[in-house]
Amino acid sequence: MNEHDVIVIGAGGAGLRAAIEAHEEGADVALVSKLHPVRSHTGAAEGGINAALHEEDSWELHAYDTMKGSDYLGDAPAIDAFAKEAPDEVIQLEHWGMPFSREEDGTVSQRPFGGLSHPRTTYAGAETGHHLLHTMYEQVVKRGIEVYEEWYVTRLAVTDHDNPDNRECYGCVGYDIKTGEVAGFYGSDGVILATGGLGQAFDHTTNAVANTGDGPAMAYRAGAPMEDMEFVQFHPTSLPSTGVLISEGVRGEGGILYNDEEERFMFEYGYANNEGELASRDVVSRAELTQINEGKGIEDEYVHLDMRHLGEERIVDRLENILHLAEDFEGVDGLSEPMPVKPGQHYQMGGVEVDEYGHTCINGLYTVGESACYSLHGSNRLGGNALPELLVFGARAGRHAAGGDVEQSQIPTGPSAKSENGDVDPPVDPGAVKNGGDPVAADGGAVAAPKQILDRAIETEEERIETLLERDGINHADVRETVQQTMTENVNVFREESNLKQALRDIREARAQYQNVGVSDPSRTYNTDLIHTIETRNVIDCAEAIALSALAREEFRGAHWRKQHQERKDDEWLKHTLLAWSDGNPELYYKPVILEGHDQTYEPKDRSY
Ligand SMILES: Cc1cc2nc3c(=O)[nH]c(=O)nc-3n(C[C@H](O)[C@H](O)[C@H](O)COP(=O)(O)OP(=O)(O)OC[C@H]3O[C@@H](n4cnc5c(N)ncnc54)[C@H](O)[C@@H]3O)c2cc1C
Repeated sequence: MNEHDVIVIGAGGAGLRAAIEAHEEGADVALVSKLHPVRSHTGAAEGGINAALHEEDSWELHAYDTMKGSDYLGDAPAIDAFAKEAPDEVIQLEHWGMPFSREEDGTVSQRPFGGLSHPRTTYAGAETGHHLLHTMYEQVVKRGIEVYEEWYVTRLAVTDHDNPDNRECYGCVGYDIKTGEVAGFYGSDGVILATGGLGQAFDHTTNAVANTGDGPAMAYRAGAPMEDMEFVQFHPTSLPSTGVLISEGVRGEGGILYNDEEERFMFEYGYANNEGELASRDVVSRAELTQINEGKGIEDEYVHLDMRHLGEERIVDRLENILHLAEDFEGVDGLSEPMPVKPGQHYQMGGVEVDEYGHTCINGLYTVGESACYSLHGSNRLGGNALPELLVFGARAGRHAAGGDVEQSQIPTGPSAKSENGDVDPPVDPGAVKNGGDPVAADGGAVAAPKQILDRAIETEEERIETLLERDGINHADVRETVQQTMTENVNVFREESNLKQALRDIREARAQYQNVGVSDPSRTYNTDLIHTIETRNVIDCAEAIALSALAREEFRGAHWRKQHQERKDDEWLKHTLLAWSDGNPELYYKPVILEGHDQTYEPKDRSY
């Protein structure tokens, strides 16, 4: 058993920032990650990091833009803390040596991004995430923080008190991808989940293959609810063939979208008369798909993003990476041709329900980064707000877990935060398949001494892995494909009740099939078939939570468009969707949105760009 004060699961931007801060507070910290830290998906971030640095800008404006972008489904305490602390985090990065792009006078450059009232996106060329990861990994190495790389965490060690509010998390179980060893990681002060996105629940996504929603699914099964899962961001500019992202930085620098009649449709059809291409992402994605559905797409599939007029010097200086992506994946020269783009799944606004310190309702369990929902992005995230989020809340969670000084949280979590029961009528039962030997059973051990709980979790995982390796079952890839296809077809930008129900039926079918998966490769060394099989269970749980929450929310807010419910209904729906696993019987309930923060109160308004 590996023992530390704080265990951080995941070594992307959020995990690295949390680990550094916990270490600053004097804790013995360890990072456990299925990938080498600098291979984490944060490295793919291109566009930049929002922070109100300029004297004409202010944190209040950044907070307002974030609340408006969220379509008033963000919680003010989280939004205010975020906007206030983001500038210090960027300055801290600068001091750690992050190679930000700069102006002639040496100041850090900031460019416009969608939905921002001021150019406040700092960046390092079009490779911001890559430099961010390297800068923070250097700090981890410098501090001697222990990194267990290529260890895949399969389960949390959590007590099984009936009420999740009373549960405790003592660590996790990991599988060494290099050797096949199963071992425990004991965190006496806390466990911080930082496992990133869940894009693999869809088949057209900007996310990497490793983004399988492991953290949210493990926390959910251990008793921490998932929040606002219906809100999925579809980025307007992904490459049609692969889903690879073309950064919003292209539109930030002045890139223009055209349909097949060479009309600048964002203005021509009044989708966003003021901001045009730089409207919020949900607005631009809907506009593109409307054009495509009305027969104005190119090859009925995509639209064009044109940056030729920016000139070679500016493109090479600020967007060189984009040229390589367009050339390598579409065979298009961005200097002389427009690039094909269409909406693709990009970011999960929902995640594990946490307060503004990343703490879940389970004592000692934190979640940060894309796997968490602090109610910061609400129903739509603004471009450039995820990276400062993982810095601000990574640091907050690291400090909290290590026992640093923090104020009382204003955001309640767990079943005691419930204000209203949910009402949804799925066409099939969601949750665990109770046909015996169900591997999608509740996590957690009996209430016992902390290390016994971890020991029991280790035994359970050893048995599970043995079974998967020995069973002559079906391949996980077929199950995963069913889920990905139905999510892309039925739970996309435009949502209809019948489609959402179809997705739930397909996911149920996949869940039933998953009971019979087996791993054909018996090896214990770099057995990716085994890892992907375990991940697929998490993909199923996340996909189902998205589809079920989407079916329940009968309004149109932010990224969540419903054909039969074409308006935002503040009287009824100014509330967060919570889904609790409840030992395999998902329970839907709600809690109110908090529009009153420490410093300002927000009034829902019409949202136009
Ligand atoms: C292509 C792309 C471009 C983007 N560009 C921007 C941008 O310019 N600006 C912006 O603000 N946002 C951007 N975003 C969003 C932002 O980059 C992500 O939300 C953010 O980087 C996620 O960071 P993270 O630390 O939460 O997760 P990740 O960086 O994905 O890290 C997850 C970590 O968890 C580990 N892990 C996962 N599961 C397990 C497990 N079971 N056991 C052990 N370890 C595990 C992985 O090894 C990895 O280390 C972009 C997103 C994409 C996809």
